[in-house]
Amino acid sequence: MQLTVIGSGDAFCANGMLHSCYLLEQAAGTLMMECGPGVLAGMKRLGIPTDASDTVLISHLHGDHFAGVPFLFLEYTYANPRTRPLQIIGPRTTEDRVYTLYDELYKGMICRELPFPVEFVELEPGDVHEAAGFTVEAFEVPHNAEPYSLGFNLDSAEGRVLFSGDSSWTDEFVARSQGVDLFLCECCCIKPVVPVHTSYEEILAHRDALGCARLMLTHVAQEVRERKNLEIECAYDGLVIELAGSGSQARSLKGSRSGSS
Ligand SMILES: [Zn+2]
Repeated sequence: MQLTVIGSGDAFCANGMLHSCYLLEQAAGTLMMECGPGVLAGMKRLGIPTDASDTVLISHLHGDHFAGVPFLFLEYTYANPRTRPLQIIGPRTTEDRVYTLYDELYKGMICRELPFPVEFVELEPGDVHEAAGFTVEAFEVPHNAEPYSLGFNLDSAEGRVLFSGDSSWTDEFVARSQGVDLFLCECCCIKPVVPVHTSYEEILAHRDALGCARLMLTHVAQEVRERKNLEIECAYDGLVIELAGSGSQARSLKGSRSGSS
């Protein structure tokens, strides 16, 4: 399984990193996880076809995580027309929020008559859903989005990933990280001063209890990314990670992506 980080920035695009977006590719399918508004710029910079995934998974309905969907709709209508169905998976009200946003951004477009089918799957906390070859288990995390925020355990024959979504620290991450290849954990501050996000110090304090082969910070705040002697690695836009079942290796893209699909 290969993870490509398309956007690793926080809501402020700290250090010039794009809003959240990741691509998980494996033989059984390709999943886009999060769809921040920089999705098209991120994919095109990396040479990734914009229709690489037929499935978009969204953790919560804050703009830096789902506001790219209307731009996918535009892309798939005009620039890179598609006929294949697109599945969008997210919390309850995702369908309404996406179409409302699309309508606000491009008034007058007949937004419910896209030239390709769109299927929405709205997950409740605790739901398990099969998508793009992954078993997606959604769990509620403590964050300030309506109606709720989700984290995900993503399991497939090729690897296991835990994603925090946006969340304050919860000990549930410890239990859910056992045996996963990668824990992708948001990190929005050094000290726990933002009650709806996780701090570097909290992650560091729990690091030894985590059961993941690899721990990586994402949704990274400027003060975290620029901290000297950071003890946990940070995701960055363009990073590609090969997950090999038990442990993983990273390499940098830097324009060398080949054989993308
Ligand atoms: Zn966010």
